[in-house]
Amino acid sequence: MHDLSRIAPLFDMRADFVHAYPYGSGHINDTYCAWYDLAGHRIRYIHQRINHKVFKDPVALMRNIERVTRHALERLVEQGHPEARRRTLTTIPSVDGHAWAIDPEGNCWRTYPFIERARGYDEIQSEKQAEEAAKAFGEFQKLAADLPGERLLETIPNFHHTPKRLEALEQAIAKADPQRREAAKAEIEVAFAREDDTRRVTDLIESGEVPERVTHNDTKLNNVLLDDVTSEGVCVIDLDTTMPGSVLYDFGDMVRTACPTTREDEVDVSRIGLRLDRFEALLRGYLSSASSFLNQTEVDHLAFSGKLLTLECGIRFLTDFLEGDVYFKTKRPGHNLDRCRAQFAFLKAIEAKLPQMEDMVQTVSGKVANMV
Ligand code: ADP
Ligand code: MG
Ligand code: MG
Repeated sequence: MHDLSRIAPLFDMRADFVHAYPYGSGHINDTYCAWYDLAGHRIRYIHQRINHKVFKDPVALMRNIERVTRHALERLVEQGHPEARRRTLTTIPSVDGHAWAIDPEGNCWRTYPFIERARGYDEIQSEKQAEEAAKAFGEFQKLAADLPGERLLETIPNFHHTPKRLEALEQAIAKADPQRREAAKAEIEVAFAREDDTRRVTDLIESGEVPERVTHNDTKLNNVLLDDVTSEGVCVIDLDTTMPGSVLYDFGDMVRTACPTTREDEVDVSRIGLRLDRFEALLRGYLSSASSFLNQTEVDHLAFSGKLLTLECGIRFLTDFLEGDVYFKTKRPGHNLDRCRAQFAFLKAIEAKLPQMEDMVQTVSGKVANMV
């Protein structure tokens, strides 16, 4: 818990700090909601301490975010959007004019206006939410698509480089405690049987068939704020991993997080299936905003992307289990192995339905093409 009355003066708030409290259910940064008084009116802001254990260069990360959000705001204003400042995060400058401020302990802080009358959901409750969230991520990519200037910094290098994730698994196996290695034997086999899949998107990026774009890279439902009244996707948040990538990573992670029939760490793997209705909702939403800039190879790999990101996530849980649970927080022994098993059960559910998913991609993209 930080004393926010000491953080507030680092920013050019032009309002008086009243009080602050920890906010939201994010796992990475320390997020606070802070109320201010502006000539008798109460307004609130989000102050966030960036987790510099995860993000080694918070200032470079903030430079990325400043560039992307400024560009998005310019585009929204140009388009005459009536709610431009609610549709993108915007950074409040520090008193010395930066998009971040460093406190006396060396922590890096940022401040955003609080997006009112909207919220993020930890769990999807309806098709509508899945559709709106996917549409909002597509819009975010579209706004960032023509970002001028040099390449964004990779805040976590090789974040979605699946072949490198498999290499890391190989190294973890070599060093692992023999008991853990034995316990994970079946899962290790699942991963290596799909070695070719791990290379598919990175190969397409290398050959230029899939372009590198500005992508979000953490496309969970709770990173889109949905309007309290209309459920419309209002604003994409949590831009720490916004960096060069493939749209397939963003869409694939939406499939991974929005389409299972159970929670992420379900232990009874027999209950884990794929919701095709959710997949279709994601496609409808995503293609309604992204089809104008996607190329055919990207569209053709949307179903596969769900498989890839699920495989990658399973590989990461498995690696962490073999390394002795050093990265992901665990609640019990074997938690990471259970998480891996859940991912791999979902992976198999995707594999079983991949032909239907491919058909849906063609049908929905055809419909969207007819509408424009
Ligand atoms: P983390 O990386 O830790 O997930 P987030 O940036 O997603 O951090 O923020 C944590 C939570 O704070 C979000 O899930 C959301 O509920 C809330 N939040 C963040 N920024 C805003 C904002 N500008 N307006 C309203 N709520 C916000
Ligand atoms: Mg978040
Ligand atoms: Mg985050």
